[in-house]
Amino acid sequence: MDILEVEKSSCIGCGACISIDEEHFDWDDDGLSKVISNNNLKSENLTEAIESCPTQAITIAKTDEVYDGNITSSEPDFQTLENNVMASSSQKS
Ligand code: SF4
Repeated sequence: MDILEVEKSSCIGCGACISIDEEHFDWDDDGLSKVISNNNLKSENLTEAIESCPTQAITIAKTDEVYDGNITSSEPDFQTLENNVMASSSQKS
């Protein structure tokens, strides 16, 4: 199954995707883009919206899991990031 996602940490809220493809995108409460539909993922407007995003924040993820109607964007793994930063800083000293 394909799932349309906006990576919130990459979205800068320019609104390009929303103005191009109102079927799939709308504003969230933080002034960023959110996905509002996971249907019709081969539409021309969606392709144009993805290509127009200046930060490549829009992706279509493939998953074997059954889509349950809840759209979530992937969150960064802060513990892994912290461990990587600590490991790299300890290597420098
Ligand atoms: S085009 Fe990209 S950066 Fe602009 S609002 Fe949409 S997802 Fe965010």
